[in-house]
Amino acid sequence: MADTPTPEMVERVARSGVRRRFDQKWKIDSRSGCWNWTGANDGRYGSISVNGRLKKAHRVSYELFCAPIPAGMVVCHACDNTRCVNPQHLFVGTQSENLFDASRKGRNAMQRAPEKSSLRYVRNRPTGLNHHKGKLSESDKIMMARLWLGGETTRRLGARFNVHGGHAAKVIKKYAAMIDAALSETPETGER
Ligand SMILES: [Zn+2]
Repeated sequence: MADTPTPEMVERVARSGVRRRFDQKWKIDSRSGCWNWTGANDGRYGSISVNGRLKKAHRVSYELFCAPIPAGMVVCHACDNTRCVNPQHLFVGTQSENLFDASRKGRNAMQRAPEKSSLRYVRNRPTGLNHHKGKLSESDKIMMARLWLGGETTRRLGARFNVHGGHAAKVIKKYAAMIDAALSETPETGER
């Protein structure tokens, strides 16, 4: 057993310390699945100090659970809830029209087809991403489609939601089509 900690070990320990503090600062919204930040915030985004520096909580979440954020990229919310730090609701993107479009697209579909997006989460998810093996809730599926519309690949989404890539692709295809269908319906706003 080597006693000299490798850089990976040091990194892991550092991350686990942040992770502990991070996990004390969010509360799950059982309806949306959002992890709402209860710690410090700047009015829009949650914040947490990492190595003495104040960082945006959703960005820290992405780095803790998903991957390092490539330079110059932003972390976007598929759920449009800026206080949310659920890594499954986050995706990396550029500040491009496309992304905002995709996000808007998904949001409108959620608002217009609420029966299709009845967001229900029954369990708390304190351990992050491996809470369910191969089981996707309805809101997981919608979120995957929205993240995919935002530019995530089916393979990465499969890994993040802990389902087989082929299954992920199937689910995403179906739900993205549902979002499209909801968008192409004529909005009915009249009475009766
Ligand atoms: Zn969320």
